[in-house]
Amino acid sequence: MRRADGYYAQFCINVERAEELVPTGKTIGIDVGLNHFYTDSNGETMTNPRHLRKTEKALKRLQKRVSRKKKGSSNRQKAINKLGRKHLKVSRQRKDFAIKTALYVVKSSDFVAYEELQVRNMVKNHKLAKSISDAAWSQFAEWLQYFGKVYGKTVVAVAPQYTSQDCSSCGNRVQKTLSIRTHICLCGTVLDRDHNAALNILAKGLKEAGINLNTVGHTGINAWGQTDLYSLVVTSTSKPTD
Ligand SMILES: [Zn+2]
Repeated sequence: MRRADGYYAQFCINVERAEELVPTGKTIGIDVGLNHFYTDSNGETMTNPRHLRKTEKALKRLQKRVSRKKKGSSNRQKAINKLGRKHLKVSRQRKDFAIKTALYVVKSSDFVAYEELQVRNMVKNHKLAKSISDAAWSQFAEWLQYFGKVYGKTVVAVAPQYTSQDCSSCGNRVQKTLSIRTHICLCGTVLDRDHNAALNILAKGLKEAGINLNTVGHTGINAWGQTDLYSLVVTSTSKPTD
């Protein structure tokens, strides 16, 4: 794998690793988005760190610079190399952030549900910043699964259909465009759009895993957790700019 700065990375993590954690008695649903890295079912948000936003801005500036240079000129080549290096920096910072965030989520709950990403949309999208976020989310999901196995927590991916439209209290479908940021239902529920989605994701995840909190109680969750040992080869999936 050739990288813009000649860096080649392939990590081989041999996971013969199962950590013991005291059950937290908590469940969490996660909705990833562009405004925040994620919003959870408790209404908490995880913001993208400032250093990341800064490098992303610099990335956009460099992209513009490349497009202004004459095709085939050495100045354009220089700008392209610089852009490639910046892109690598952003993806490394993103990956680092995804790993730390996934570990934090898994450690603070016994059950984690997140939305399965739609690969179709990711392929269709050609905007660099957006594609980097998408890559970060899929990395985040992979690390959630990984740490879930290590710490014996249940991590479930749910289908994204209607999670932002349905009311998390009464189940009514409340159609809303992307610009509508608040979920308002006739049943009286008023919630931040992403918070409502995260609650739906959690409910869907629990249903999918066959967990009924009313009957098994929170302590029952760990029974579904997997502690099997396995090997995982993690390869850096981000590619330098073409
Ligand atoms: Zn409702």
